[in-house]
Amino acid sequence: MITVGVCGAAGRMGREVVATICSAEDTKLVAAVDRTAVGVDAGDIAGCGTYGVQIRSDLGEALLATKPEVMVDFSVPSAVKANALTALNAGVRLVIGTTGLAEADLRELDGAARANKTAVFVAPNFAIGAVLMMEFAQRAAKYLPDVEIIELHHEQKVDSPSGTAMLTAQRVGAARRAAGLVSTPMPNELKFNAAGARGACEPGTGDVPVHSVRLPGFVAHQEVIFGAPGQILTIRHDSLNRTSFMPGVLLAVRKVINLPVGLTVGLDAIM
Ligand code: NAP
Repeated sequence: MITVGVCGAAGRMGREVVATICSAEDTKLVAAVDRTAVGVDAGDIAGCGTYGVQIRSDLGEALLATKPEVMVDFSVPSAVKANALTALNAGVRLVIGTTGLAEADLRELDGAARANKTAVFVAPNFAIGAVLMMEFAQRAAKYLPDVEIIELHHEQKVDSPSGTAMLTAQRVGAARRAAGLVSTPMPNELKFNAAGARGACEPGTGDVPVHSVRLPGFVAHQEVIFGAPGQILTIRHDSLNRTSFMPGVLLAVRKVINLPVGLTVGLDAIM
């Protein structure tokens, strides 16, 4: 039995993770942390029946009292780094699904994991289909250098571009460079006037423009669009509901126990 704590347990993803951890044969929920629904049974709020684990507000106290082997964080971008450092400094193995961590944050978490001889696993997307989308896009970038990304999410997602779009852009940009290709230069007047229309080239996105859409009705969707004379290749992935992420989360909980000390990024690294 792997003992697990969930941080952000009352959130949309957290509730799904709680239900998954409570129903898997080899995992046991021992701690649930959130700033919402404190004192409420985590199983009740997840809709999977009373489990006997109440939501606590203080992560440090929860870790001390329940000593989970693995902590899973699906909280908010503004809290994830502090949560992660608390868990790593307590020597807990950590799985992070919360997005919004910058490169410098990841380096800091790697250092904290090494200092405490523990492991941290971060995946911007736990859906297998999204991992395949990124893999196929990297392959296409070796032949089709003109590419842009559109990511579409529900209106309550607070960060943009999405972590998946950032990682896809980095990987597509790297594959394109490795193949010795560059994108077709834009005319100068467009470069200055059409930044919105062309999407943002955020730092760390490998010069691949990313467009973000936030609208009710969407869950998590992404298109990687390659354009070439006379042809368009679109690689699209849709997460239609949050169950799409759960096999990946469960895999990460099982694998993080034996991952080497330090940071591992991306579901493909453990599949
Ligand atoms: P959500 O519904 O807003 O849930 C986040 C929960 O965390 C809320 O209950 C929030 O409480 C709570 N929280 C806020 N501060 C906290 C703290 N300091 N410690 C513990 N809990 C805290 O968001 P969501 O839709 O579940 O998404 C959570 C994160 O996962 C986002 O970053 C999202 O982008 C990411 N995500 C990742 C994947 C993936 O595959 N990696 C997939 C989907 C989503 P309040 O409501 O009071 O703020």
